[in-house]
Order: sequence, then structure tokens, then C-alpha cells
Amino acid sequence: MSETSTSDDAATLRDRARLTFDLDIDICIVGAGLAGLTTALEAARLGASVAVLEGRHVGWNASGHQLGTVKPGYGLPLGELIERIGFEDARELWSLSKEGAEFVRANATEEQMPGIGLTEGALEVSNVDAGDQLISRLQMLNDDFETEVEGWQIERVRAQLRTDRYFHGVYYPKAFQIDGRKYIEGLTSLARRAGARIFEDTPVVSIDPSGIRKRIVTPSARLRASHIVLAGNIHLGAPLRRLSDTLLPVWRFAGVTAPLGDRLADVIAFKGSVTDTDGIDHFRVLDGGRLLWASPETTWSARPRRFAGAIARRIQTVFPRLGKVEIAETFGGAIGQTVHGMPQIGQLRKGLWVASGFGRQGINTSAMAGQLIARSILWGDERWRLFSPFELVWAGGPIGRLAGQLVGMWGRGSAAAAGALARHRERVRTQERIREERLAEANRQAGNRPQPRRPAPGRPRPARLRPPEPPASQPSAQPPVPADQGSGEGT
Ligand SMILES: Cc1cc2nc3c(=O)[nH]c(=O)nc-3n(C[C@H](O)[C@H](O)[C@H](O)COP(=O)(O)OP(=O)(O)OC[C@H]3O[C@@H](n4cnc5c(N)ncnc54)[C@H](O)[C@@H]3O)c2cc1C
Repeated sequence: MSETSTSDDAATLRDRARLTFDLDIDICIVGAGLAGLTTALEAARLGASVAVLEGRHVGWNASGHQLGTVKPGYGLPLGELIERIGFEDARELWSLSKEGAEFVRANATEEQMPGIGLTEGALEVSNVDAGDQLISRLQMLNDDFETEVEGWQIERVRAQLRTDRYFHGVYYPKAFQIDGRKYIEGLTSLARRAGARIFEDTPVVSIDPSGIRKRIVTPSARLRASHIVLAGNIHLGAPLRRLSDTLLPVWRFAGVTAPLGDRLADVIAFKGSVTDTDGIDHFRVLDGGRLLWASPETTWSARPRRFAGAIARRIQTVFPRLGKVEIAETFGGAIGQTVHGMPQIGQLRKGLWVASGFGRQGINTSAMAGQLIARSILWGDERWRLFSPFELVWAGGPIGRLAGQLVGMWGRGSAAAAGALARHRERVRTQERIREERLAEANRQAGNRPQPRRPAPGRPRPARLRPPEPPASQPSAQPPVPADQGSGEGT
């Protein structure tokens, strides 16, 4: 096992089928992560003969070490997506990302994947008090992008998550979470049952994509195929180094706490996944009163166990009421980040396909990529062309990695500073309110009428959310409405 990724516990020793004989097939897929396996499953279901070649073992990298949150959309915020390609194409891409999530849901059933433990609902919380931005985002998602979302007021967020770090929330009732490891195992058996052949310990060392029948070389076998799908993420290496060079590798680490007892339910009542809008923390409660938490990132590979302390400290920072927590298990993997933030999906030349660069949101997007590529090869579905505006852009080599780390640190640092400022403002507002109440009380006792307080000259009124007018049955489930026209920017 490489030190780059995977959990700390020793990989289960099991029989791995290595390719030791030559093969002639329709489609050869390089990489048995989520992207490669979904492509294999869909192509085999549509009747193609498929071989997946995996250099280590199925789910070796990020795909076997993720948190299992499935939401529509991409790593790139929706507002930026619209800015880059326009409203109509953004709508089409968003709808494809929803199809990807539905593909996962359709496969991740208890009958097909026992123990998958699907639970509903995910919450995105803001680290700053940004109610006006939230409103425009809710309107756009609900009305224009046909995605069911609810806006949560600060009080509702804090009733579910007892911390002053989070302000408003966007709740996705149709998002869901699954056991990430069970999913990759389930996907493997579904692909095998559909007829795909999966070979592990079989690195692809070179490809020759010219000609109608393409050639693929591994240490102990040669293959010929009409199509090659490169789904090797950042580790692709020799077969097409220029492609791996378009990805900035980011290692993301996660931990599971030891059981936390009753104190966990006191502090975190929300049952689904929680992410913050700055992409810093991602967590959810697991069975047995444990907390699953992903946060630290690096641009170099490291043993996940090294980050146990950092994860425990981060949990305490966000939820000080939890007190000291013990991290019982750690894991991590490398994600491939593109320069433009969107995945790489498409045909590089006739019969040579790419499916990578899924970043932090890879479950729905890799499912979508697998479907698009298989359907294009077998049915002539050309919707993958919607990704053409997002070309392959060199990620900058080692200097790019360093820059990426600095930008990441700066981004996290500035998000933390913005969060601290928002909490400071909130404290000041509370103090002002208490002062005003005291003043009003003093005036009442003195028999004076309180004077209305005017805002200081030149100081804009803060944008306010009008309190929701909830239906009797469901208090505060309505998206908030702007009081004085605060429809701000998108995401
Ligand atoms: C801690 C963590 C939490 C995450 N949580 C979530 C989440 O909750 N929701 C979500 O949507 N996303 C999440 N992600 C992101 C998601 O896991 C990734 O985007 C996704 O797994 C990428 O899948 P992939 O198939 O492209 O890549 P990989 O998982 O990297 O798979 C690529 C495979 O190709 C193989 N390979 C490479 N080169 C070769 C070669 N030359 N020959 C043979 N084989 C090769 C590799 O060995 C590897 O197994 C998370 C990621 C991490 C690290």
C-alpha cells in the first residue's frame, strides 16, 4: 500500500485478479475509482465488452475514502458557472449533475448494496452572516434550476448545530449520504454482474491511441480496444502524463471519533451531512454516537494518522461544548482539482476519452461522467460536449502545487477571518440590543418616552431577513424573504 492515501488500518487481504493474458475488447477503462467503475457499469449494461485495469486495488485512492455525501452540482459555485458559460448551458450542466446523483440513488439501494445505509438531507451552512446572498441563491435553485432547497434562519441552524460559528443554512432535502466504502464495493459487484471484467494490480504503463483499434500495455498483458477511457485521476502518470499535469493534487483527510455518548446528540441534532460554504469542514453523525469529520488538506501526500490531532482540534473549535474528542480512525485520499474547477469529461481524440478532475464533489459528478461517456460510445449521446468550454489547462507543475497550497491556505485563512468578523459583529449587535433595552427600561422608569434610534450618518442599514411566515404545520421551513429588497449576487 502506498503512503499517499487510504485508511491507516491494513488493507484487507483478498484475492485480486491480475491481468496476465492478452485481451480484445470494446472498451478499456484505466482506473477503478468511482469514475472508471461507473463508466464500466453503464457500458456493460448497454452491451459493450469492458475491461477495467486498476494499478493498485479498487477504490485505492479517494473513491474508497470519501464521506458519501451526494448532492447536485459541482465544486464550482453555481454563480461562477453561470458567469462562465451562460444561464442556459449552466442549467443543462446542473441538470446533468442531478442525473448523476439520481444514478447513485438508483444503485445504492439496500437490495443491491446491503449495508449502504442511505439517509436523506444535507445542510450547507455559511460561516458569515450572508442572508441576502442566501435568498438569491435559494430563488435561483428553486425556480430556475428545479432543485428543492429550504432556507434556514440562524436560529434554526443553531438549534440543530449548537455553535456560534454558523449563520444561515441551505437545506437540500433530496440530497443524501451513503456509506462511501460500501458504495465502491457495491459498484464493483454491480459492474461485474453486468459483465465488466475488473483487473487489479494491473497498472497501465503505456497506450497507443492512434488507429481504430487502440493498444494498451500492462506489465504482463496487452490489450486492444476501440475505446480507451482514462479515469486515473492524478495518478494516471505514464499513459498520458500531459493529462495528469492538468490536475492539481490535493490530499484531503478525515477522521471518525470514538463514541461520544449523549453529549453528541446535545450538540449536533442534525442527522444528515453538513458542509460549510467555504469548503473547510464536512461532517455528519454516524451510528453509535460517532462523528465523521473531514477537514485538513495538503498538496503533498502524508499518512492520515498524522492529522488525528488536527481533526480533534478542529472539532473542538467548531463545537467547544463537545469537550475533548478522541479520533479512533483516520483516512484520506488525493483529489484532482482542475484550474477551472470543473471536471474533465470528453473525447480527446477519436476513441480516447477522459473522466477526471472531480475535486471534492466526485460522487454525483463521476456518476454523470460515466453515464455520458458510455452513452456517447454506445448510443451517440453527445451531451458530454457541454463540458467543452472547460478545456484541459496545465496546472502549473510543482510551482502550481505550491501556489495552490498558498491559495488554499489564504482561502481558508480569509474564510476563518470572515467568520471571526461575522461572530464579532453578532456579539456587538447583541450588546447594542441589550444596551438599548436597558436604556428603554431606564427611560420608562424615569417616565420618559424612548427616542427612536437613528443610524449613524453615512452608515448603511444592515440587510435584514424578514422573519419567515411559516405554515402552521412546519415552522420556519420557508425560505426567508428579503425585507428591503436585498437580492444580492449569486453564490
Ligand atoms: C476525504 C475525502 C472525502 C470526500 N468526500 C466526498 C463526498 O462526501 N462527496 C463527494 O461527492 N465527493 C467526495 N470526495 C471526492 C471524491 O472522493 C473524488 O472526487 C472521487 O473519488 C474521484 O474519483 P476518481 O475515480 O476520479 O479518482 P480515484 O478515486 O483517484 O480513482 C482513480 C483510480 O485510477 C487508478 N489509476 C491511476 N492511474 C492508473 C494507471 N496508469 N493504471 C491503472 N490504474 C490507474 C488509481 O490507482 C485509482 O484507484 C471526497 C474525497 C476525499 C479524499
